[in-house]
Amino acid sequence: MKILVVGGAGYIGSVCAELLLDEGHEVGVFDNLSEGHRRAVDPRATFFEGDLAERVRIQAALVDFQPEAVMHFAASALVGESMENPSKYFRNNIAHGLNLLDAMVATGVQRIVFSSTCATFGPPERVPIDETAPQRPINPYGESKLAFEKILHWYDEIHGLRFVALRYFNAAGASENFGEEHRVETHLIPNVLKVALGQKSQVEIYGTDYETPDGTCIRDYIHILDLARAHILALKSATSDFYNLGTGGGTSVREVIDSCRKITGHNIPVVEKPRRAGDPPRLIAASEKIQRELGWRPQFQRIDAIIESAWKWHQKFPNGYGD
Ligand code: UDP
Repeated sequence: MKILVVGGAGYIGSVCAELLLDEGHEVGVFDNLSEGHRRAVDPRATFFEGDLAERVRIQAALVDFQPEAVMHFAASALVGESMENPSKYFRNNIAHGLNLLDAMVATGVQRIVFSSTCATFGPPERVPIDETAPQRPINPYGESKLAFEKILHWYDEIHGLRFVALRYFNAAGASENFGEEHRVETHLIPNVLKVALGQKSQVEIYGTDYETPDGTCIRDYIHILDLARAHILALKSATSDFYNLGTGGGTSVREVIDSCRKITGHNIPVVEKPRRAGDPPRLIAASEKIQRELGWRPQFQRIDAIIESAWKWHQKFPNGYGD
């Protein structure tokens, strides 16, 4: 197939583009490089530099590339920042996303795989979280993604735009060539690995008094290649739908740090800090629906395997993409 990966220079988009190319698809990448990196664009892809803020740019890319489907990763994705600057989140994730959908309708592109998030649920009443759980986001980031999910539903109803929205839990790990590098790093695994690389002196643990076995937050870390495989399966889905995507396993902050110690051989000093605002104690996905309906199976179940792949990438590219 011919796929336009919007936001394909970012962490998740770059690995999806790579896997699509490995599987013989033809790939275009549209990215404004605000969070993404030019070097994260697979050299086999056709690159369109542009911003979804400008509908003419995305429409021109669609006319030029003529994709059969779009994967949409271009969004602002930091919970904390969204609590300080909600306008950025509603504008980028909803208003600019609408430019993409309208350009797709105008050019007759009828399929989209959308990068959604477990943040659309808010603090869960129970875990694991399945697709029937109530969606009550507690920050503008989750709200903006939930709004876009609803918009997709209506574009399907009215314009026949077929969508699959994948609600990821914690994306982690790397492929051989592409990994996690954010301009401002707030995520746990890259922050711990930066200590092992000697680029940070210690890692902060945000909260040790949660009601979890070791007092730290539990997350469902899913390998980026497993995520990418889910996107490719979603392209083939016959109907529009929403799927939660995680491994179903939970790993605490302390367990992540211990795994990093084991893999890197570095002692990784920690400093215990108060809780970070907006962090639910435990987020774990129920992914039975996507397993049943699309035949997805996670290949990386162990946190050690996920962290090993991230560590390999960070050692290969200690300065990331260098921009
Ligand atoms: N965390 C931490 N120290 C860090 C970064 C994150 O203790 O330097 C914790 C964070 O509070 C959360 C978990 O690690 O409980 C995962 O955070 P991350 O930002 O990686 O992902 P999130 O779950 O917020 O999407």
